[in-house]
Amino acid sequence: WLRGPLRGAQPRQALPMSVLVMKFGGTSVANLDRIARAAKRVAVEVANGHHVIVVVSAMSGKTNELVGWVGETSPLYDAREYDAVVSSGENVTAGLMAMRLQEMDVPARSWQGWQVPVKTTDAHASARIEEIPPANIMAKFDEGMKVAVVAGFQGVSPEGRITTLGRGGSDTTAVAFAAAFGAVRCDIYTDVDGVYTTDPRICDRARKLDRIAFEEMLELASLGAKVLQTRSVELAMRFKVPLRVLSSFEEMSDDAGTLVCAEEDVMESNVVAGVAYSRDEAKMTLISVADRPGIAAAIFGPLSGAGVNVDMIVQNISEDGRTDMTFSCPVDQVLRAQTAMEEAQAGGDISYHDLVADTGVAKVSVVGIGMRSHAGVAAQMFAALSDEGVNIKVITTSEIKISVLIDRKYMELAVQALHDTFGLDTAA
Ligand code: ADP
Ligand code: ASP
Ligand code: MG
Repeated sequence: WLRGPLRGAQPRQALPMSVLVMKFGGTSVANLDRIARAAKRVAVEVANGHHVIVVVSAMSGKTNELVGWVGETSPLYDAREYDAVVSSGENVTAGLMAMRLQEMDVPARSWQGWQVPVKTTDAHASARIEEIPPANIMAKFDEGMKVAVVAGFQGVSPEGRITTLGRGGSDTTAVAFAAAFGAVRCDIYTDVDGVYTTDPRICDRARKLDRIAFEEMLELASLGAKVLQTRSVELAMRFKVPLRVLSSFEEMSDDAGTLVCAEEDVMESNVVAGVAYSRDEAKMTLISVADRPGIAAAIFGPLSGAGVNVDMIVQNISEDGRTDMTFSCPVDQVLRAQTAMEEAQAGGDISYHDLVADTGVAKVSVVGIGMRSHAGVAAQMFAALSDEGVNIKVITTSEIKISVLIDRKYMELAVQALHDTFGLDTAA
């Protein structure tokens, strides 16, 4: 995802000091008490001899509130102002965390993204980090500062405007700092004590994994497991950042949480490593499209141009030169997709009879590196869903995952059934 390498990234442990990155998510900084508890953990790591880069999220619920205010003020908002508003939650927690550390006699100061600077692209609301020059923070470390508290989720564009990295982006801030500073590790503190075989909030038999391979975590994240932002996993994999997910509510210990690591370092051998879901999907079908060479390009070009993130695609057998084309996208992009298709029809680029939107679907996926060498996973998955009476609407597969689109009301049931079928409650 980086156009160039993260410029300035240091080889790990090449630095004269040991830098540790600790990221605290929204629930871990939800109020002053929790900020104080997080600060105590930071102080322990400082006492252990680390220079710490603390990356903070906004207090839980804050970013949602800010996003809501933007929508109420301006439905077709200016994305640059959206970023100016929604990035602000992190500024508050960064300042409070630095103050709390100072109260504990730990030399610390806060940094907003632009001050570091965290240089990003200008893709507002989903910007990518391009470079984090370590010089400013390193100079402070050299002067005796022990902790740099960085506001997560935000950066600055080439034009000097504030940007944000997409929802959940503080994870990516944390991993990018770990890469740029050659950190010994990046610890992601959250409200669960690690990565589970599926979301523990919807399946009580979900089991915490001690380790998970980067490739599997990448698939789980991109298929909806929001415990880590997808880009953070991509970055960790690319820059070989040791990445750990752990709870900020439990006792500190060296083997706490889940280590996201190289495939060869994972001991478990379950064919399926985990189940992920994405709740708010939509299935769109263009009925009776004139089938001709170039039709897919004529449909998906305008959709992409309109910023619609098309996921699954199915084209039906054509009859009399006409066919149905089905695709899925996030439910909040349905309007944009409809507008793009109507404009393409009006412009004479495509012709179809109807566009049917099913906004009540969810995507459920099973992920595992073991699928590369193990046949029959798809059949087992479909049988399990059929036993529960769950109808499959669309299927896609890749080397290490199988995804299905189903009615949203069966989503939890499907996740639980698949978790059972693949025996994920016990390690293999
Ligand atoms: P934070 O605010 O700390 O960034 P998030 O809410 O973004 O936390 O991510 C943590 C949440 O991810 C958990 O509370 C859990 O509900 C959800 N989650 C989804 N899938 C998984 C999984 N496989 N393992 C652990 N947590 C998961
Ligand atoms: N506060 C931002 C969000 O809620 C970023 C983050 O917490 O990772 O999306
Ligand atoms: Mg998160």
